[in-house]
Amino acid sequence: MKCVVCGVKEATVYQRHTGMALCRDCFMEDIIKRVSNEVKRFDMFNERHKLMLAVSGGKDSYVLLDVILKLHDPSRVGVVSIVEGIEGYNRAEDLVRVKGLASKHGVDVVVISLKDYVGLSLSEIVSMSREKSINVSPCTYCGVLRRKAINEVARDLGYDRVLTAHNLDDEVQTALLNVLRGDLFRLVQLHPKGPLLSSLFVRKVKPLRKIYEEEIAVYAHIIGYEFQTTDCPYLRFQPSLRARLREYLYRLERKNPGTMLKFLNTLDEFLEKYLSKYVSYPELPKCLNCGEATAYGRKYCMACELLMNLGVEKPKYLRLSPRG
Ligand code: SF4
Ligand code: ZN
Ligand code: ZN
Repeated sequence: MKCVVCGVKEATVYQRHTGMALCRDCFMEDIIKRVSNEVKRFDMFNERHKLMLAVSGGKDSYVLLDVILKLHDPSRVGVVSIVEGIEGYNRAEDLVRVKGLASKHGVDVVVISLKDYVGLSLSEIVSMSREKSINVSPCTYCGVLRRKAINEVARDLGYDRVLTAHNLDDEVQTALLNVLRGDLFRLVQLHPKGPLLSSLFVRKVKPLRKIYEEEIAVYAHIIGYEFQTTDCPYLRFQPSLRARLREYLYRLERKNPGTMLKFLNTLDEFLEKYLSKYVSYPELPKCLNCGEATAYGRKYCMACELLMNLGVEKPKYLRLSPRG
């Protein structure tokens, strides 16, 4: 069968949500065009911006880097990765492929371990937490510390945007979780033009948010990404409601292809109107220990509070100086 777009090459990819059979080149062009449209539609970044990609080493971050290198000047792109330090799971090994792609294009790569950043690896944090019988999941420590580190690294090194590799499936799950929890504050922040709550934050954008995870896997395969075989041993501690929602959404999408995309497009339109009329939040207060932003009504930021509960008296974090 020939590709329905060019009509010349053999179709090798079936795009479920459009029902189209495409050749590899037309499939890749479609992904790049959709990402570019999303970036422009929400003014995610422009050609003057310095972009820092927060990468894990997985397929999504590899695809993000590949797509961004096709849309932006590589000399204005950097990559940051936080290595958690999890026993039996070597994130540094996963980064080899991303580093290879970055160095081919002269892109700066910053790799920092949690041990460097805060003096403790994630495994050490988890065992301290277990010793004290604190009921906090490894993913909470991991997510909170990683987000804080990435924001500070990007800001210290003079980047204008932090790009993450969240895909359509991730975004729809998070949106629905916020709806189910009745958390309008978080739902609003999911919108690409959501309010920047602190001058200490570097704006985070998600260029792949309208691309299905399945499409990202196909794209990764086409550009020669080798899939990793090990999973984080703490994966089973991820919130179960999200896992159940993921399963449900997959089934829904199989029956009605395009459902997730329609949902997110509608939510974007709705939130855009809501944002322009009703949303105005004051600047977030600053943490009394580290001086970074914290939630309204709190003395300490989440990271400092988690570490202080583990017995770390005055948590200190690594700071990087700007590059000339
Ligand atoms: Fe971190 Fe949890 Fe992901 Fe492991 S599964 S890398 S602990 S967020
Ligand atoms: Zn084609
Ligand atoms: Zn703090």
